[in-house]
Amino acid sequence: MRKGFQFASISLALLFMLSCTRNTDTIVYPTFEQRQQVNALLISGTTNPGQTALEHAREAIAETFGDSKTILLINFASLPEKRDAYLTRMQGLFAEIGPGYEMHSLHDIELGRCAEAVKSAEGFYVSGGNTFLLLRELYDRDVVDLIRERVLGGVPYIGSSAGSNIGGQVIGTTNDFPLVDVPTRLSLGLLPAVFNPHHPDPALDKIQFEARQWKIGEYTRYHENEAVIGVTNPGMLRIRGDEISLVGIGATAFVHSDGEKQVITSTEVGEVSKALSRSVTR
Ligand code: ASP
Repeated sequence: MRKGFQFASISLALLFMLSCTRNTDTIVYPTFEQRQQVNALLISGTTNPGQTALEHAREAIAETFGDSKTILLINFASLPEKRDAYLTRMQGLFAEIGPGYEMHSLHDIELGRCAEAVKSAEGFYVSGGNTFLLLRELYDRDVVDLIRERVLGGVPYIGSSAGSNIGGQVIGTTNDFPLVDVPTRLSLGLLPAVFNPHHPDPALDKIQFEARQWKIGEYTRYHENEAVIGVTNPGMLRIRGDEISLVGIGATAFVHSDGEKQVITSTEVGEVSKALSRSVTR
């Protein structure tokens, strides 16, 4: 009787722990071995002021995708009625990046076959829009872990804006409104930080810059174990295994980690991973 009671209590405790793991944002960063093959590009602004869409990122996109030409577009950040047109637009933009790209979109694939499409993609391009909508639709299709697994296996990942937000550990510092609820804010965790796109540049807009820094400061006050990296519109983070670099002419990254702030303007290889090194080992 007593044993039965103990067994039931332990099972209940285990169940409770499991449900907690699911419902709280437990950050799991890939192990050193797991992250060696990551080849990702996290773009801040799809359009850099004064340029056409993705013009500033063409070279970095071509370099990241390399020989991978069959790209799976994930455009769930757009409203459902806009996704067809978005695919056509992206196919046009990719024709300007280089020859041979073939782009299909996950929104054209029926729910039950999404996993198959993720498994066979040669590269992922996750476009911008609303971050909550994007993550929710990926969880609805049960492909978050699968995308992560494939990227850890070396399949190139390019995110833009909302697509870059989900490259971080959680979507804690998106600028978006929660259009829909998400089962968890945990995202792909390719970056040992939380991403904030479209970070204002103090040289261009001091007031907006200060407001964003304030907001991020409030965030880290409640999430002190998370590093946050804000990137200005011309900027991108290139992740190659453990080496994370800032890319883009005139780009700046603002790193908030362990109560300290660092500003990165150098596009030297590995500058961002150096600034994040303490959070990498968490
Ligand atoms: N709404 C943005 C985008 O995808 C994401 C963000 O600002 O957090 O363009």
